Amino acid sequence: MDDENVYQVLARKYRPQDFDALIGQEAMVRVLRNAFETGRIHHAYVLTGVRGIGKTTTARIIAKGLNCIGEDGTGGPTVEPCGVCENCTSIVESRHVDVIELDAASHTGIDDIREIIEGAKYRPAIGRYKVYIIDETHMLSKNAFNGLLKTLEEPPAHVKFLFATTEIRKMPVTVLSRCQRFDLRRIEPDRLIAHLRGIAEAESVTIDDEALALIARAAEGSVRDALSLLDQAIADGGQDAASVRAMLGLADRGRVLDLFGLIMKGEAAAALAELRDQYRSGADPEVTLNDLAETAHWLSTLKVAPDIADDPSLPAETRAQGKALAESLAMRVLARAWQMLLKSLEEVQRAPSALMAAEMAVIRLCAVADLPSPEDLVRKLGDGSGVTPARPTPAPTGGGGGTSAALRVASTNAAPRIEPTAETAQLAHPDPVEDADLANLPQTFDDLVAFIRQQRDGELLYDVETGVKIISYAPGRIEFEPASGARPNLAGTLGDKLRRWTDARWMVSIAEGPGAPTIAETRAATAQSLEMRLRKHPLVAAGLAAFPDAELRAIPLNVAETPIDVPFDPDEDDDDDDLLGEN
Ligand SMILES: [Zn+2]
Repeated sequence: MDDENVYQVLARKYRPQDFDALIGQEAMVRVLRNAFETGRIHHAYVLTGVRGIGKTTTARIIAKGLNCIGEDGTGGPTVEPCGVCENCTSIVESRHVDVIELDAASHTGIDDIREIIEGAKYRPAIGRYKVYIIDETHMLSKNAFNGLLKTLEEPPAHVKFLFATTEIRKMPVTVLSRCQRFDLRRIEPDRLIAHLRGIAEAESVTIDDEALALIARAAEGSVRDALSLLDQAIADGGQDAASVRAMLGLADRGRVLDLFGLIMKGEAAAALAELRDQYRSGADPEVTLNDLAETAHWLSTLKVAPDIADDPSLPAETRAQGKALAESLAMRVLARAWQMLLKSLEEVQRAPSALMAAEMAVIRLCAVADLPSPEDLVRKLGDGSGVTPARPTPAPTGGGGGTSAALRVASTNAAPRIEPTAETAQLAHPDPVEDADLANLPQTFDDLVAFIRQQRDGELLYDVETGVKIISYAPGRIEFEPASGARPNLAGTLGDKLRRWTDARWMVSIAEGPGAPTIAETRAATAQSLEMRLRKHPLVAAGLAAFPDAELRAIPLNVAETPIDVPFDPDEDDDDDDLLGEN
């Protein structure tokens, strides 16, 4: 089909030319379609989303739609640009005099923008609208934005702005508030795989589904990245999963799982041998560590949502292996592995050899595999009486969640702690898990605190608000880091009371932080920032200047009978403050 025998990269060859070809952005297309049909086309749009997701492509399609005159030369603005009129074709070839593309990454200054502002005054030469497409808009300098703002405030009717940015937060609010915003979404893996398959067929390339799924996963929702990888796979001549994996520098997921399993069992010698073997067969040690961290994350999510094991980029046996491993390992063991691996990844960059760093990481991970968990240490050190219930703590979630390892937290209470491994997990005798109605339990940690308040247990409320640095919360399952000074055995007390109050199974456990700030800490921080803001209020500032010893004190507004001493200059009009000081 190409005019010349020049190979055109797929991303370019298959760049969508109209909204129908733009996959995964239906919401935006619907809004645009409506705007065009009702003639309410905004004068400025901002398109945001990760790189390679189609922002500039969308901008060009909009530019075409704005200027298209149709095949017969009589058409108006349309969401279905004809693609053949002079306006459409010259926009596609980036040579339309009225469609000006500017890359803000290399034209950040006010001078570049001044040109635009000047040009915007003149009517379009051949098109209906002058369209300014500014890529990476957030890179513009402050002066450039200010210059642009004047035009945005009073845009000539013949001018449209299309801003594309990967970092919407760096755009000034003054500019954003004058634009209609579209968030372009990452393409779902299934959509992306189907898209890739369609293109492979159109190119008469056979490539297997697992390979396409690997490409889709690596592209992380970006069509352009996916097509570049597909290009590369075709050029390499490798269209099966193994060669795509090699191309992407991915280790075999199954082998990574093997390695992870050995580490979790604390089998250091075998784990090192496996690591070196993977290294010999070409795996980059840093990538291997990264894969191990990814595995820790994957297994953790598998525990929460077993469905995600159905990932098409994984062979069936790998999925089964992952599920089994997830079931055998406790959440906090996985969390600890994740944290240690992240630290190791930082070290790899500074280490004299990546392999050495990876080996040290594996050895360290194996060494902690049979250490007691912080929870058990706390239990042992906390109170000699072993106050925690000797009966097995029931698992909180419904069946099938793979919580058997977690159950042993309590059942191995007195015995020396053995970290879960595939074998030990099977030794556990979990209680049969009831399908507690999780929907009736407090759904968030804040809900839980409100629930405790309802129970009028002031002591527990205080302990939870000051002592719990929440790490993860799910109905029936709480993991937290105790704040310093937290009541010993808070986890046990909280679990017991919740079980009694809700008649459901709760697992409350302590884990290594960092947990979120406690409720009390958050409250204090909020109060402090409120006070900072109030101190800047002219009225308050004046009051404090007049009465240097005054302190700010919060008084609830609705308590009408509370006597209020007004500390400010009586001449001042005290209008809107609910916060008054007194000396
Ligand atoms: Zn056209």
